[in-house]
Amino acid sequence: MRDFSNCRRIVVKIGTNVLTRNERLDSQFVEAVAADIASIRSAQRQLLVVTSGAIGMGAREIGVAPPIRQVSMRQACAAVGQPLLMNTYRSAFAAHGVSVAQVLLTREVLNNRRSYLNLRNAVETLLGIGVLPIMNENDSVSTAEIGSAFGDNDQLSALVASKVDADLLIMLSDIDALYTGDPRLNSEARPLRTVSALTDDVLSSAGGAGSSFATGGMRTKLKAVAIAERAGCRVVLAHGRENAVVARVLAGEEIGTLFLARDRLSNRERWILNSAPAGRVVVDAGAFAAIRRRNSLLPTGVVHVDGTFAAGAIVELAVADSSKVRARLITSLASGDLVSVMGRHSSQVASLLGPGRKEIVARPEEIVFID
Ligand code: GLU
Repeated sequence: MRDFSNCRRIVVKIGTNVLTRNERLDSQFVEAVAADIASIRSAQRQLLVVTSGAIGMGAREIGVAPPIRQVSMRQACAAVGQPLLMNTYRSAFAAHGVSVAQVLLTREVLNNRRSYLNLRNAVETLLGIGVLPIMNENDSVSTAEIGSAFGDNDQLSALVASKVDADLLIMLSDIDALYTGDPRLNSEARPLRTVSALTDDVLSSAGGAGSSFATGGMRTKLKAVAIAERAGCRVVLAHGRENAVVARVLAGEEIGTLFLARDRLSNRERWILNSAPAGRVVVDAGAFAAIRRRNSLLPTGVVHVDGTFAAGAIVELAVADSSKVRARLITSLASGDLVSVMGRHSSQVASLLGPGRKEIVARPEEIVFID
C-alpha cells in the first residue's frame, strides 16, 4: 500500500487529452476533477493545478482548425482560450466553495531569481488564504524560438512542483501507467506499479526515438519525473478518467505508476540543474574525474566551448567524445575568456586575461551532476 498521508503540498497536472472529448473541452470532466480535488483539500493539505487546454479552446472559439503550427496563431489561440479555460475551472470549483487564481508562467520567470521570488510570494500567499492556484504556460508570450518556452506542461508541472517544494505530483493523462513496452504493439507489455529509479531500462520502456509510443508523451513525462525526483517529489502517473482518481491515489490505491523520489537537492542546486543552459563546455576525462571527486573545474581540463555566454551563466557540461550532458554549472568565466584560457594552466590565466581574474571555471558547489 502506498502511503501519501504526510503529503502536504500536491501538484495535479491535467493534460489536454484528458481534458477534451471530440476536440471540445469536456466541462463535465472539469466538474468531476474539481470535485475530486476539492474533496482532498484541507488545512494541512495544499493543492495546485497545472492545466493545459488554452490553445485548443481558443482555436475552437475562433474557428481555427487544428493542428495549429504557426507560432503566432498558437499565441493568438492561447490568448483567446486561456480566459475561457479559467472560467470553466472557476465555475467548477465555485460549486465546492473553492476560489481559484490564474498563474501564467514562462521559463524565464522561473529561471530568473527575482521574478521567481515574486512568483513564490504570490503563490504562497494564495495558498495561505486558501485559494487554489491554476497554472499554465503563458503561451501568448513564450515561444520555443526565443527559448522561453517549457515546450510542454509535463515539464512545467515538475518545475512548479520543484519550485514550491511539493511532496507529490499527480500527472493525469490518457495513459494509465508506464508499461514495460508499447502496449499497442506488444501484448506482453505490462504496467509498472512502482519505479524506484529512472534506469536505462525504464527509459527505454518509454520508447526509443521514432517509435510511435515515444510521441504518445511518455518521454516528456519521464523528463518531468527526472526533474521532480531530484526535488524529493514523488510522481504518480494515472489515467485522468478514472473515477475520483486524485482522492484514490492519495488514499494509497495502487493506481497508475508511482515514481519514487531521491534526496531533495538544495534550491540552489535545483536552480542550476533546471535552468535553460546558455552554452556548453566540453571537458576531458581527467577533468571530469576530478570534478566528480568534488574538485573545482580548471581551465586546463576544458577542450571545447559552445555558445556565447557571460560570467555567472549556467552552462551544461559534456565529456569529450560524447554528446551526453553530464552536469550543469555556473561558469565564472565568460565564453570568450574561457576560449582564451582553455587547455592552459591556472597560473597562466592572469597573464592571458589580466590580473585579478578567476583562475577556475567553477567551484564544486557550483556544479550539479545529472545522474
Ligand atoms: N500550454 C498549452 C495549452 O494550454 C498546452 C501544452 C501541453 O499540453 O503540454 O494549450
